[in-house]
Amino acid sequence: MSGWLEGQVAFITGGADGIGRAVVERYIKEGAAGVVVLDRDAAGLKTLADAHPGRIATVAGDVRQYADHEAAVSLALKQFGRLDTVVGNAGVFDFRRPLRSYTGASMAQTMDELFAINLRGYLYAAMAGREALIASRGSIIFTASVASFNSGGGGILYTMGKHAVVGMIKQLALELAPDIRVNGVGPGGTLTGLSGTEALGQTERSINANPAQFDERMAAGVLLGFGQRPEDHTGLYVLLASALNSRAVTGEIFMSDGGTGARSV
Ligand code: NAD
Repeated sequence: MSGWLEGQVAFITGGADGIGRAVVERYIKEGAAGVVVLDRDAAGLKTLADAHPGRIATVAGDVRQYADHEAAVSLALKQFGRLDTVVGNAGVFDFRRPLRSYTGASMAQTMDELFAINLRGYLYAAMAGREALIASRGSIIFTASVASFNSGGGGILYTMGKHAVVGMIKQLALELAPDIRVNGVGPGGTLTGLSGTEALGQTERSINANPAQFDERMAAGVLLGFGQRPEDHTGLYVLLASALNSRAVTGEIFMSDGGTGARSV
């Protein structure tokens, strides 16, 4: 049986682990000819590339550096001959830190770091991929969040940043039409190694420190009653990457949050 992404080529940021990694694996399963992954986790990139010989190309770098995105797009064109989908996904969390916990200095540092990764990193991916995507009439997908529409999914900075992703999707959908479709996927709380900022000393902290507790909290708080896993979201990334199956979809964010957004209290 042929997949939904036969022969297509994607570039994804933050694909060495978590949701990004699950998307890479799924794209390969759906027949993608190649996926280029930009991530700062060099060891994770190697494991991924070794698992799929010839189908994965990697750039060990930082999404805050434009040159790293340019290198990823060049690699896609050189190694696989085209680029159909850009997925902006690499991100860090603020572990729900409230406004009152910041000093002026820690706010400046954390905001600069978190926005540079979670927002500038997405914009850079779109900028670097734009020309190649115009040529293929491709699509951009950004990882949004439950924190893109409501409070409490993060602290003040993470929530602001994920709300800004919605603005990015809508504005770029307008600016890049009719050549490139621009959409988002909004996961709910998902068991991954999502970590924090250097500015808050939280690079070693991760949301999956206690999986049983995580699952228990999610089961109680989510309509569908289970803690999500990275693979649970990948079908939407496939759908939005497939022109055949979502040709008329742009400027949309598809939620994948177990029904969190359907509840008012
Ligand atoms: P993760 O930590 O498993 O994956 C993130 C990846 O991004 C990692 O491989 C990491 O090395 C990479 N990365 C982080 N900063 C980077 C940088 N500066 N340069 C290059 N690579 C960098 O976490 P995840 O949960 O899979 O997160 C993926 C996306 O999903 C993020 O945008 C996150 O905000 C979003 N999200 C996560 C959840 C959740 O509950 N896990 C929910 C909604 C949205």
